[in-house]
Amino acid sequence: MNKQLDEEQVRKLQEKLKSMSPEEVQELIKKQCLFCNIIDGNISSNKIFEDDKCLAVLDINPATKGHTLLFPKTHFQFSNQVPEELVGHLFVVANKISEKLFEILKVDGTSIYLGNGQIAGQNVPHVMIHIIPRFEKDNVSIGWKGIKIADSEMIKLREELSAACKNIIRKKEITEKPKVIKKVKYDERMIP
Ligand SMILES: [Zn+2]
Repeated sequence: MNKQLDEEQVRKLQEKLKSMSPEEVQELIKKQCLFCNIIDGNISSNKIFEDDKCLAVLDINPATKGHTLLFPKTHFQFSNQVPEELVGHLFVVANKISEKLFEILKVDGTSIYLGNGQIAGQNVPHVMIHIIPRFEKDNVSIGWKGIKIADSEMIKLREELSAACKNIIRKKEITEKPKVIKKVKYDERMIP
């Protein structure tokens, strides 16, 4: 589907984009976006939840049965562009859908996953949260082998990142007790 443009076509496209207002550019992006087309009803989907802010559909290439994609109704490419209130709402909805997967599909676990950029598995440039039902021996791999980082580099990283992260959020008391939805078996090595 991805047709390569030649240099002349790219130049013409860039010229055109320059002459467009930000609203017109946004409209053009929306027209090209698979999820925006699903939101507008131009492409059919297996919708499982919708409100005024977001839509959840069953993935047509699911990792496992019940694999759900949740996305905002406004087009954003990366998660840091999404207003904080909407980020919160999306995670609340993802959490509730995950809970329903436990209840209805009797899953053994869920992976809630968000990728920013193609390298992170984001195959449509519209923010989406994957809610993937997990079962014993489901052959889904969202894993990595731990790499070794030298102590000195770890200290440097910690200093750099902790300084950068110092004021990113205001402190909030968490008062609600976590709800247990199902007893899930963990690898013994993970239990402290
Ligand atoms: Zn979109």
